[in-house]
Amino acid sequence: MRIARVALALAVLLVAAAGTLLALAHRQIRAIDPPLPPLASLRAFADAPDLPVRVSVWNSASQPAPRAQVLDARRDPAPDAPYVMSHPSFVVEWSDGRTLLVDAGMDAEQARAFGRPLAWLGGGAIEPHGGIAERVAPALAGRSVAIAFTHLHGDHVGGVVSLCRARGAAPLRLLQTAAQADAANYTTRPGRALLDDAGCLARERTADAPAAPLPGLPGAFAIHAAGHTPGSQIVGAFVRTADGVRGVLFAGDAANAIDGIRHDVPKPWAYRTFVVPEHEARLARVRAWLREAEAQGFAVAIAHDERHLATTGIPPFAP
Ligand SMILES: [Zn+2]
Repeated sequence: MRIARVALALAVLLVAAAGTLLALAHRQIRAIDPPLPPLASLRAFADAPDLPVRVSVWNSASQPAPRAQVLDARRDPAPDAPYVMSHPSFVVEWSDGRTLLVDAGMDAEQARAFGRPLAWLGGGAIEPHGGIAERVAPALAGRSVAIAFTHLHGDHVGGVVSLCRARGAAPLRLLQTAAQADAANYTTRPGRALLDDAGCLARERTADAPAAPLPGLPGAFAIHAAGHTPGSQIVGAFVRTADGVRGVLFAGDAANAIDGIRHDVPKPWAYRTFVVPEHEARLARVRAWLREAEAQGFAVAIAHDERHLATTGIPPFAP
């Protein structure tokens, strides 16, 4: 009896502690609502003489999932459409070899662990394709490489650990807005710890501006997006190819499917309330901003929408 009472008291305490943590995280994220840059102001980045000449994507894992896992089914115009969750790392390259990576995806082992709970919730099996350490890093040997993260969740940060190992003594520039460097919650602290332990990152803060230039990488910029995590960023770049100059916005998890942007569909209520405490009103503003950007010709790369990524014109990374 006594043991049962103690166990019950402990359980109540645990639930109360978790509830407090969740409430604090909601209060924190709801207070973050910085100005988004006018889209016209981004065009100045396209005027740099030395724009990147290539953008490509390495997808570290794929997992089919019901759309109800990523879009509020009550507002989803196509709830039965197929959906595959991707875990990409984007590779932006300048003519002299300078490279910007956006997100690090996951190694095969990390991907299997990440995909398991989603499979229990009705998703298919996750299929790892290999991490960037093995698939991208060999091609970057001897180059100046920087990395920026859309946010510090494990599925976007994981691959950096073996990337550092693969690069040996070569430093990797870590470019962060002040918000991402300073503000964290319990969902981003494990990812931050990975960055602290990675061993090759040279931290640099971007200037405090609605669209901050990424130093030494003309044409590239970071925007404090917030909404999903306190330090969520949209990273962007204007890329010069044979077809002309095109703006690309790496939107991370502002939405998890392009239809969230195009049809203004929030993430499922249970997800944004209990799994990742989000600021939905802020995300609605970010979605509207991205919708307008897409209408103006920007490619909007949603991290987790594999079928959409294949339509953006961003080709798979090839060494
Ligand atoms: Zn994610």
